[in-house]
Amino acid sequence: MGRRYKETIPVQVAIVGGGIVGTAVVRELSRYKLDLLLIEAEPEVGWGSTKANSGIVHGGFHEEPGTLKAKYCLPGNQMYPELCRDLDVCFEQNGILMVARTAEEMDTVRTYFRRGTERGVNLRLLSRDEVLAQEPNLDPGIAGALFAPEGGSVMPFELAAALMENAVQNGARYLVNAKVQNAWSEAGKKFLETEEHRIQADYVINAAGLFADDLARMFGDDYFTIHPRKGEEYIFDLSVKDVVKSTIFPVPGPISKGILVIPTAAGNLMMGPTGDNILEKEDLATSQYGFERVFAGAKSLVPSLDPRKIIAQFAGVRAASNRGDFIVELSPNVPGLLHLAGIESPGLTAAPAIAADVPRLLGEAGLELDLKEDFDPRRRPVIRFNLLSREEQDALVKEDPSYGRIICRCETITEGEIVDAVQRGARTLDGIKFRTRAGAGRCQGGFCQPLITEIISRELNIPVTKVTKRGPGSEQVRYKVKELYESEVQA
Ligand SMILES: Cc1cc2nc3c(=O)[nH]c(=O)nc-3n(C[C@H](O)[C@H](O)[C@H](O)COP(=O)(O)OP(=O)(O)OC[C@H]3O[C@@H](n4cnc5c(N)ncnc54)[C@H](O)[C@@H]3O)c2cc1C
Repeated sequence: MGRRYKETIPVQVAIVGGGIVGTAVVRELSRYKLDLLLIEAEPEVGWGSTKANSGIVHGGFHEEPGTLKAKYCLPGNQMYPELCRDLDVCFEQNGILMVARTAEEMDTVRTYFRRGTERGVNLRLLSRDEVLAQEPNLDPGIAGALFAPEGGSVMPFELAAALMENAVQNGARYLVNAKVQNAWSEAGKKFLETEEHRIQADYVINAAGLFADDLARMFGDDYFTIHPRKGEEYIFDLSVKDVVKSTIFPVPGPISKGILVIPTAAGNLMMGPTGDNILEKEDLATSQYGFERVFAGAKSLVPSLDPRKIIAQFAGVRAASNRGDFIVELSPNVPGLLHLAGIESPGLTAAPAIAADVPRLLGEAGLELDLKEDFDPRRRPVIRFNLLSREEQDALVKEDPSYGRIICRCETITEGEIVDAVQRGARTLDGIKFRTRAGAGRCQGGFCQPLITEIISRELNIPVTKVTKRGPGSEQVRYKVKELYESEVQA
């Protein structure tokens, strides 16, 4: 069989990977007069490590001095309040407590305090009594803690979707369901091939997360490798929401920050993650062993946690590089190829700062950068019905009755919000869930999923049998009973 003809799409800058790094980069570059294209393998952006993490905007005191993680984490943290305001993304600056359980651990906490304050992080050392006054549900046996008031919590998927939406408002384009299968460099141009397209780019940014080493190798760069490290997380229902106010960290171990108790920006409490080196990059299974370690770690910090209140669990995979640090550099072999690889934790926090450095790096590679006068940093605000006052809800329903129809009862999400999410780019049930939280409550979509399926079908004008949970192969409806009945009656 001959090769299928693919029309070539010429662009100035192609970004491979629509995780938090790729979307932050494309939005940053959309400040400039550039022709930009982001290419994402999944049906929506933000579905890699970005959708399955702890959602913490780290304080900037954990990272080893001299690392790129340290270089980008604190500035990233400092960019979050304005970024989330501009993009209307849920962000809670609820602070981080690193809790010491013994006098020896308190010595380690003091080391983090010195390291952080030298770097300019706003930190306070708290005695046992001060910690318990702030967080009365912590284990009374603790020795003291480090408090970072500027640490926070964000909804990572929502942020990635918002960054992409704002970049598109500012002229960028993106492809989904477009896995780069082939890439090469020829006569100063770089080529990327997906099932459907051939893209010819002057500059390529490798933000392919776990698969960044595979993409680099396609261009002949084999000087770094990515090693998957899994983290399991467990989510409680909203009844345990107020057990702690800040994110609670233990004193870290040698390869991870330990098991945390996390009040998420969505309002649920979460505990995790584990930190297990694994063989398969796509291994997202949770396990009894993972649960036992997470629960034991979380319970040692907050003894009242009750496993019967857990409503969901997931695993995410960190993209650890063989350097043990982020890789943010131009390829030494392929002019115009920029690697943003090995962006494991605190990559969510660091992403806006990494993105802000990309114009400098592309400038070094010869790209001319000319700022647009009309860049708009703000995204159209999102209506969150359950956060409105009664009066605001009444006025909204009068104006648009679709906001008066509750689709997700657990989280009080309306039809209007689901329609809006589709209009902003959601294409799947998971896309709706991550954007609006419809289906993320106690019943986990048992009640609302059929209704959401119908809304997506109606809004996109596709049959319900084509609506998927997370892309092809995850269709939820095999046939419509009415159609089946009619076909049988006719037969
Ligand atoms: C359990 C866990 C907890 C974490 N907690 C935190 C935290 O609390 N705070 C924090 O700051 N960080 C945290 N992190 C780290 C954070 O999640 C990552 O640093 C961040 O999500 C990395 O983003 P990314 O864009 O590099 O990768 P991804 O989000 O993985 O994005 C890469 C994208 O590239 C796409 N892609 C790959 N190959 C191709 C291809 N060939 N063609 C087209 N597209 C392709 C993928 O589909 C994917 O969407 C955590 C990570 C894990 C796993």
